[in-house]
Order: sequence, then structure tokens, then C-alpha cells
Amino acid sequence: MKMEQVSNSCYAVLNEKNRVCDANSGLINIGGGLVIDTQSDLSHARQMIDMFGKVWTGMPKKVVNTHEDSDHVFGNQLFQGSEIIGHRSLPERMKQVANPEEFLHMMHMAEDAVTGPQMQAVHPGVFTAARQIAEDYDFSGVNLVPPTTLFDDRLEVILDDVEVHIIHVGPCHQVGDAIVWLPKERVLFAGDVLFRLCTPMGWVGTFDKWYRALDMIIDELKPETIVPGHGPVCGVEGVTEMKAYLRYVEAESRVFYDRGLAAGDAARRIDLGPYTDWLCPERVYMNVERAFREFRAEPHDQPWDQAETFDEIFSVAKSRSLSPTF
Ligand SMILES: [Zn+2]
Repeated sequence: MKMEQVSNSCYAVLNEKNRVCDANSGLINIGGGLVIDTQSDLSHARQMIDMFGKVWTGMPKKVVNTHEDSDHVFGNQLFQGSEIIGHRSLPERMKQVANPEEFLHMMHMAEDAVTGPQMQAVHPGVFTAARQIAEDYDFSGVNLVPPTTLFDDRLEVILDDVEVHIIHVGPCHQVGDAIVWLPKERVLFAGDVLFRLCTPMGWVGTFDKWYRALDMIIDELKPETIVPGHGPVCGVEGVTEMKAYLRYVEAESRVFYDRGLAAGDAARRIDLGPYTDWLCPERVYMNVERAFREFRAEPHDQPWDQAETFDEIFSVAKSRSLSPTF
């Protein structure tokens, strides 16, 4: 984990391994302080607080959760007394997708001498993901703390005399996707609307909604510096590249869909071209599956079978002779 100053008053804490739980956090160090996203477990949240503690004078008054996923909200409980801001959907969605008990159960099953090998045989993707996550993360002691301030379309807060715009752009990666924009410093904290140099994962949402969010960043906001939800700090080229990736995968998916292949088979065969070097290229499965769901006119909030999803990602990696990375 490292901290980077990205503008006059903005900082980022980056988890450089950039695997599935390695989300970034942000700090706007004015007006009492605002932290963006609270890490995947208490140990990482404490490290983040220690790092930001080098440049702030007290715990921040405000926190923003960019969306409901565990890697952005599991450290909320360490910000007692702070106002926690999130999209109106977050309290319910967090209960559905960020249940610490479920995470602990999966980790224990994978570690256990009896259930571990059984899990490996039946769900090799889930087993591999759990073992990789256990190298860095421990979900013990996490209590789910929902936001205290909910908003619908956008919320503007003033820190000293600096405007901060919190804008809901979901559902593109998740229902509650929000971005945090400082027009004065031209800094954007993008949450998981942007994955940089690693393959994006989308859960609830549509390609069109995701393109619209990315277009708004490119055409309207025009940020100088962007802290993505995952991956290194970048400029607007990060957004352009990820939009091109989604467009490419959507178009390739159509070809395989029209030939009658299943999404998993399409993900095994698709030529990843310039995106082969992005981390976790096998996560392409999720983007292909989303495209197929849209071609079949299925609802964008249709739930995922998480075990099946991780197993498909594992299988795509194996078929490409890659070591599966989650
Ligand atoms: Zn994330």
C-alpha cells in the first residue's frame, strides 16, 4: 500500500497488487477532511488511516462510499462519528452483496482441512479466489456500517471554499456507483466506474449506462487527474481506454452470441488483443456474460451466481494457460 499526493488537497492510497479486494481510497484534506472508500478489511483500513494520518490533523468529518461492494465499505466502522455519504440504494444493497459473515464462511470453508479439498473439487474458482484473498485479507471483526447520509442524483458539499460534487452514475458497475469530483482541482475519484490496467468487473448495470458515465467524464468533467477504484492514478486516457475495452468486448461478444456459443465458451475464445496484458484478463467472462444477458433482453439487475462466476473465470484462465488471478 502506498500514498500519493494527486493535487493540492487530494491524496490517494493505492493497493498496488491490484487484485479483486485491492481497492483504492482517497482523501480530500480540507474542510475537516473527506475520505473516499474505506478498504476491504480492518487491517487495510487502519493502514489507510495511518498513511492519511501523515497529512491530516484529525479523523475526517466525512466519508463517501462510491458504491456497495465490500472492498469499498468494510472499513466504515473505523470512522465512528463521521458523516458517511452514499447513494440511497446502499443500505439495502450492502446487505445483499457485502455480508461479512458470508465472506468469513467462504474463507473458513477454503481453509478447513476437510471442506477445503471438497470446495477445490466442486468450485475450483471460489477455492482459488478464497486462498488468494486470504494471503492479504482477514474479514474478522467487520461490522457492516451503512451510510448515514443518503442521496439520489447528486450531492454537493463545500470543504472550506472548495466544491465537491458527488454524482450518482449507476448502475454501470454496481447499483450505487457514484463519482467524486473537485472542479477546482480537476481531480476525479472514480470508484469502480474506472478500472485502470486491470480487467473491469461489472455486476449490475448496462453497457450503455457505463458508456454514458465514461462519456460524461471525458466530455463534461475533463479531469486532469483520476483516482480509479482499482489500479494506478491516471489521466483521462484511462477512461478512453476502458471505454474502448468495453466497446471491443461488447462487439466481439455479439459475434460469438450470433454463432450460438455460451458466454463461457465465448470468453475462452475471444481474442483479447491489446488488453491481454491487463491484470486478470480472464475476468473478461463477466463482461461477455453481461453482453449476452443484454442480447437476450434480460433485466440488468438479474443476480449473479457468485460461485459459478468465479468458476467460469478460473476456467477461462486455465483454457488460456494463465495462472488464475482474482
Ligand atoms: Zn472495487
